[in-house]
Amino acid sequence: MLCDFHVHTSFSADSKSPAREQIDAAIKLGMKEICITDHHDYGTGGMCHLDYTLDIPAYFAALKELREEYRGRICVRYGIELGLMLREREYLEDLVKTIPADFIIGSNHFIDGYDVYDKNFYLDNGYETTGSDRGAYLRFFESSLKRIQTLDCFDSLGHLDYVIRYGPVKNANYRPEDYMDVIDEILRVLIQKGKALECNTAGFKYGLGHPHPYEEILKRYHELGGELLTIGSDGHRPHEVGGYFSEAAEILKSCGFRYYTVFHERKPEFLPL
Ligand SMILES: [Zn+2]
Ligand SMILES: [Zn+2]
Repeated sequence: MLCDFHVHTSFSADSKSPAREQIDAAIKLGMKEICITDHHDYGTGGMCHLDYTLDIPAYFAALKELREEYRGRICVRYGIELGLMLREREYLEDLVKTIPADFIIGSNHFIDGYDVYDKNFYLDNGYETTGSDRGAYLRFFESSLKRIQTLDCFDSLGHLDYVIRYGPVKNANYRPEDYMDVIDEILRVLIQKGKALECNTAGFKYGLGHPHPYEEILKRYHELGGELLTIGSDGHRPHEVGGYFSEAAEILKSCGFRYYTVFHERKPEFLPL
């Protein structure tokens, strides 16, 4: 079983699952490594009813304990899913120098003061007047591009087209080629900066029928020379850990990949798919 490098626990505001239950689920699936990556969206107070920030020292102390407890059964990696925010640049770049993380996912959950989950993000980006989700999706991709150009505080870009989970009609009208000039640029920046792209299988559990990002984007990343590729279920509950990983392996192989990437002390290591 592929190693899951995107897993949430009760340290995240949107998960009630104790870390041990998540890790036990991974062991049952035969995983050799799991990376716990709880949410830390610093500076988003007031944009959302949940508090997506971590008590950083307590969090990493807990991960350290778990690593010791599970030694010999599974390797517990220390991860975090950081919300990328330009105005928090200084905080984020300083933070990643001080935490003992193996792996940092950079994600875009908040744009222009909206939680991407919030329907007003779509209404105010053109849906209200045109009935089209294109404005919101384009805004999401352009904003993601700007952030990864500017910020260095991450190892892998999380769920690149995650915005389609929450649009008014989700992915009904979504065609990656309609955004490919921006998406291409995102992929090129990742490659140039030595950052990984995440294949996030949660798209399947959200009924989208595709991983994040879509197959054609994964394929394009490979064509452009992208090699650093992490895999994560984005599981918030035990039965979601490792979800749709056999589908992901097939998709990634058909896109031309032979290896995927895990991170140890923020250095990439390659494992066969
Ligand atoms: Zn979450
Ligand atoms: Zn996320």
